[in-house]
Amino acid sequence: MTTTIAFDADTFEAEVQQGLGAFIDSEVVPLEEQHREHLEDPAWVYGPTGGYSQELQALMRQVRMRSAAAGYYAILCPTEIGGGGLGPIANVSIWEFMYRRYGPGRILPYQALGHWTNGPSFLFTQMTPALRTRALERLVSGEATTCFAMSEPDAGSDAWSMRTNAVKDGDSWVLNGTKQWISNSPYAAFATVFAVTDEEMKLTHKGGISCFLVPTDSPGFSIDSIIKIFGHPGGNEAIISFKDVRVPADSVIGELHRGFDLALNGVSLGRMYNAGRCVGLARWALELATNYSKDRQAFGHPIADYQGVSFQLAESAMDIYATKSMALDCARRLERGELPLRDMAILKAYSTEMCFRVFDRSMQVLGGMGLTNETRLYDGWHQSRAIRVADGSSEIMRRNIARHLLKGETAF
Ligand SMILES: Cc1cc2nc3c(=O)[nH]c(=O)nc-3n(C[C@H](O)[C@H](O)[C@H](O)COP(=O)(O)OP(=O)(O)OC[C@H]3O[C@@H](n4cnc5c(N)ncnc54)[C@H](O)[C@@H]3O)c2cc1C
Repeated sequence: MTTTIAFDADTFEAEVQQGLGAFIDSEVVPLEEQHREHLEDPAWVYGPTGGYSQELQALMRQVRMRSAAAGYYAILCPTEIGGGGLGPIANVSIWEFMYRRYGPGRILPYQALGHWTNGPSFLFTQMTPALRTRALERLVSGEATTCFAMSEPDAGSDAWSMRTNAVKDGDSWVLNGTKQWISNSPYAAFATVFAVTDEEMKLTHKGGISCFLVPTDSPGFSIDSIIKIFGHPGGNEAIISFKDVRVPADSVIGELHRGFDLALNGVSLGRMYNAGRCVGLARWALELATNYSKDRQAFGHPIADYQGVSFQLAESAMDIYATKSMALDCARRLERGELPLRDMAILKAYSTEMCFRVFDRSMQVLGGMGLTNETRLYDGWHQSRAIRVADGSSEIMRRNIARHLLKGETAF
């Protein structure tokens, strides 16, 4: 599908996509093929604790490092930390490209492109020189990863109610608390941790939370349990805790007490990533369903001949086109220096709900085949279901949208 909005396909981004695709096809897909049996075996994918096995982690690292050496891994990161410096339009379109080309149910291809919560991130531009020396090269080269530790058992949607705190003690900060749902934390060498540094300021919701980079081998840091979802034998998210974890004073990222602002910038970036991912996944599913409907025969005709089927394809096309147009509109405005918060909230809710609808319809079009592991549709269905909660739930998005409307932002 191509949109009629003037998105120049001959741009630098298109060349990057071509190069990245060629890199993955030649370097990563053969690795996947070589380990196909293992990658399809949940007992191999997940180790005894429910986290990815050591063998899989080694393959993931290999892909990240090869991609970094080829110049792709940090392509969406600012140039000042060694990234490619590509902007919001590229962020959306490259993630769309990745998910459309490689689809759901695959791990290795996605290691080739650093994601801001676990790979090199704009946050790192705010690191102190000492922190850069200790961590930056390992993160940008793909050798090590990080995780974004914000949510807590009693602070999900209401992140301001977090309790993890950091207290200054001489030349150190001492962290205590528990974080929950932290993606990639079981494997990360560093955690980007949000902690209360001024309780009174926090109560005003205007500051009081700071961002720290914490090595996960620090004494007192622990992975308490891996969270398993959708019946899988393992998972990528974990509950982690900090018991008197001591880090040097220069471990603060950005300004002291202003960590929440940094987190919100990241969340905005996440909205654009999720939009690209959802459009890409939905396109992959629609193409699969469309092709299947032309081949599969029932009552003497291809099922595509029946409106009950073809209208489901059309509904999905309508959904995808609307979402892609919204995503490109928000990306263009970000590129111009605007921060379209209301419309990015619309985009987050719409894109994730759209993706779920498209996967659901595509499964229906494929009948029993749509439910099999072989078609991998179930994984896109799971992914899109999870991101209706993660990164700000659909209800919180509607709450934000309504707040903007009630403040008078009713123009479109
Ligand atoms: C797969 C996955 C990965 C994640 N990865 C990370 C990560 O890497 N780092 C991180 O910090 N967090 C992560 N999260 C946590 C995620 O951000 C939270 O799950 C999310 O913010 C919702 O919080 P909660 O689960 O505690 O739900 P709650 O906040 O308890 O909400 C429960 C329900 O109530 C609704 N609700 C709450 N308040 C309102 C309101 N005011 N109005 C209307 N409805 C409301 C919610 O929409 C939801 O339906 C992840 C979550 C998932 C599922």
